Amino acid sequence: MNTQQLKKEDSTRRTFAIISHPDAGKTTITEQLLLFGGVVRTAGTVKGRKTGNFAKSDWMEIEQKRGISVTSSVMQFDYGGKRINILDTPGHEDFSEDTYRTLMAVDSAVMVIDSAKGIEPQTKKLFQICKMRGIPIFTFMNKLDRDGRDPMDLIDELESVLGVQAYPMNWPIGMGKTLDGIFDRYNHQVELYSHEHDQDSTIVKLDDDNNPIDAPDLAENDQFQATKDSIDLLDMAGNPFDEAKIATGDLTPVFFGSALVNFGVKTFFDAYLKYAPAPSAHKTEEGNVVEPDADRFSGFVFKIQANMNPNHRDRIAFVRVCSGEFEKGMDVNLFRTKKKLRLSNVTEFMANTRENVKTAVAGDIIGLYDTGNFQIGDTIYTGKAPVEFEKLPQFTPELFVRVSAKNVMKQKSFHKGIDQLVQEGAIQLYTSYTTNDYILGAVGQLQFEVFQFRMQNEYNSEVNMESLGHKIARWIDPDQLDEKMSSSRNLLVKDRAGNPLFLFENEFALRWFKDKYPDVQLTAKL
Ligand code: GDP
Repeated sequence: MNTQQLKKEDSTRRTFAIISHPDAGKTTITEQLLLFGGVVRTAGTVKGRKTGNFAKSDWMEIEQKRGISVTSSVMQFDYGGKRINILDTPGHEDFSEDTYRTLMAVDSAVMVIDSAKGIEPQTKKLFQICKMRGIPIFTFMNKLDRDGRDPMDLIDELESVLGVQAYPMNWPIGMGKTLDGIFDRYNHQVELYSHEHDQDSTIVKLDDDNNPIDAPDLAENDQFQATKDSIDLLDMAGNPFDEAKIATGDLTPVFFGSALVNFGVKTFFDAYLKYAPAPSAHKTEEGNVVEPDADRFSGFVFKIQANMNPNHRDRIAFVRVCSGEFEKGMDVNLFRTKKKLRLSNVTEFMANTRENVKTAVAGDIIGLYDTGNFQIGDTIYTGKAPVEFEKLPQFTPELFVRVSAKNVMKQKSFHKGIDQLVQEGAIQLYTSYTTNDYILGAVGQLQFEVFQFRMQNEYNSEVNMESLGHKIARWIDPDQLDEKMSSSRNLLVKDRAGNPLFLFENEFALRWFKDKYPDVQLTAKL
């Protein structure tokens, strides 16, 4: 591709994540979007907890059994002249680390809120990560087919709890049993709701005074009159529509609708695609930026996952393409090791069918079959001058377990499993300084359960886990370390790179240590 063609391709990419508190409707809305893209043909195939069909995005058995989304997956499809990359993020709080890294690989986010519940804890956390990155955030107030909270209340809460300005793109006419439609401010029309929801929604155009054209029933509808009053209020006292503020994430366009009955979802998605950004430049560790239409190919690994599909016993490194063009079989440099690699075994993500990808441009996600070359955060690039993208956030584990193989004869599969799962970044591995015991650290308890489950299912290795409970991890300068500093209130361990750290019982134990060794430097993160 020449630069002109590359620019054109880049401009069609929309790469985003859908974030929400569990149960707000993320999976249901994802499914509707896949329907629009022709990826699935009938509703209920993405996550059929009731029908027994499981989500295309829910690859792993444990997800199916528990009905939660554990890992981020990627779905790509074409819609409305755009190539869409949706990066799924697990909503469960225990998987926040994986989620955070995924959010580093997107250009915008869709935040789904249950309109009966408003802002929930996980929404807030995820929103803050997106805000920190300064990416545009679009809000979908879901479940309008059910009785929810007053829309004005929801907008107030959104603004005050999240500290963001909101611009309602539409406004409900009634709600739940009395839902008559939505007043679409953006397209200046009313989308009528059919309680049978067996037909495409009927559109009523509005005149300059917001009166319906050729729709006497709607003109006389009391709920519509009340909505008109709310619109007047929003026009006068609400935030103005401001594209620049949307682009920086300071203003979130808000859409009301219902994912389950597919009401307002298409209108939302069309407007979203208009304002969501194409891939933007990425910062490097050195403080430079790499433009998407640069000649040279570059990208970074934001996730590594083993055995996504039991039929393919392999490991995949997920790469967000940041610039240039990926071509199958190309040679790239891996920044960390300075090694050259040939990218011949590559996959893209059309839900769980793996199509063999030939080219990809900025914004696209490609999956590299990995035999142990990659780590999370790795940068790959072509050309001479080295490129290293900004480091991905790392979270210090707070929960620890001691782990061992139940069957001592099966050490080989035990080590292989630990090695691979640790490399994925889902869990941290430490070894105790003196006894070489394996100690695992995680941000949440569920990560241990998934680890145990996967060890047994994927590596045929039953493990014993002895909980060490909550601990405070602090790294120590190796030159200052004296093994005598280890006591009954702390545990001296090494991380994977061999750096020493203490796991303190509690704040008290940490303070006691600091008092005893005032000159010793302890750090919370490495
Ligand atoms: P997730 O945990 O955010 O992925 O949520 P799901 O998409 O799995 O939805 C959680 C529950 O809410 C499911 O029982 C859905 O059927 C239901 N749900 C999702 N969207 C809607 C909606 O628009 N209206 C109603 N009434 N229920 C919905």
